[in-house]
Amino acid sequence: MSPSNVKEWLSYGKNILKKSKIESYSIDAEVLLMTVLNFTRTELFTKDSYDLTKNETGKYMKFLEKRKNFMPVQYIVEKCEFMGLDFNVNPSTLIPRGDTEILVEYAINSIKKNKFKTVLDIGTGSGAIAVSIAYYCPNVKVTAADISEKALKTAKKNAEKNSVRQRIDFIKSDIFENVISKYDVIISNPPYIKSDVIKTLMPQVKEYEPISALDGGNDGLYFYKKIISNCENYLNKNGELLFEIGYDQSFEVSRLLSEKNFTEIKTTKDYAGLDRVISSVYK
Ligand code: GLN
Repeated sequence: MSPSNVKEWLSYGKNILKKSKIESYSIDAEVLLMTVLNFTRTELFTKDSYDLTKNETGKYMKFLEKRKNFMPVQYIVEKCEFMGLDFNVNPSTLIPRGDTEILVEYAINSIKKNKFKTVLDIGTGSGAIAVSIAYYCPNVKVTAADISEKALKTAKKNAEKNSVRQRIDFIKSDIFENVISKYDVIISNPPYIKSDVIKTLMPQVKEYEPISALDGGNDGLYFYKKIISNCENYLNKNGELLFEIGYDQSFEVSRLLSEKNFTEIKTTKDYAGLDRVISSVYK
């Protein structure tokens, strides 16, 4: 008997994804069906005898097919949540990671404590960092830079969606190429995966997310080196440089910072206990 109501389609979807070795099959099937029906998670259970229309069934089947092929759920439903805010996402930008919230929380605390006024986000991607900082720090002006025109388009949309468009300047720039002023804070979650590690990433990452947002060159440090060695014209004295880093990069990025005019170099761990954020003050 083919599925007809919510309860039956949900269990059908979970089975299909489980058979395709999708580890998060249960929550994924729920999110896909919630999106098709515009239901909350509660409604999935309180309205479980609702019979899907032909249209809804077709859309759900398409979604399941994409997920079976390892497309990340966030790209399928074209949205994701970050710092309690809603973002649009598409394959031209990385999907914002929970770990990056550690970086943004660090930045927000520091901006408030030091009364910083200006922030430059290098490689803004979906705008997750720039938009969250603008949203939670209403006295701050943010510049969001990215080399990708498509990413900037997505980031602008996300700024509008969260009502901070008027406090963010977007510039197309390869790192500092088109940056013209100095900032109190420079923040970046640059590509930091070593080139030859990319092939070992999960299929849903390496086959769908933009490699240009992940690949940090042979040693994974390409962007840290570029930013650290060129930032003197763009960072105010006593300003802060904040990076997301890979779990094994704290030592090397600290060394790069200490060779330049940086002090108070500090590493912060993520919820898994891995080094994730490095902060430093420019002297
Ligand atoms: N944390 C991301 C991942 O492991 C990488 C992000 C980045 O390179 N900036 O997929």
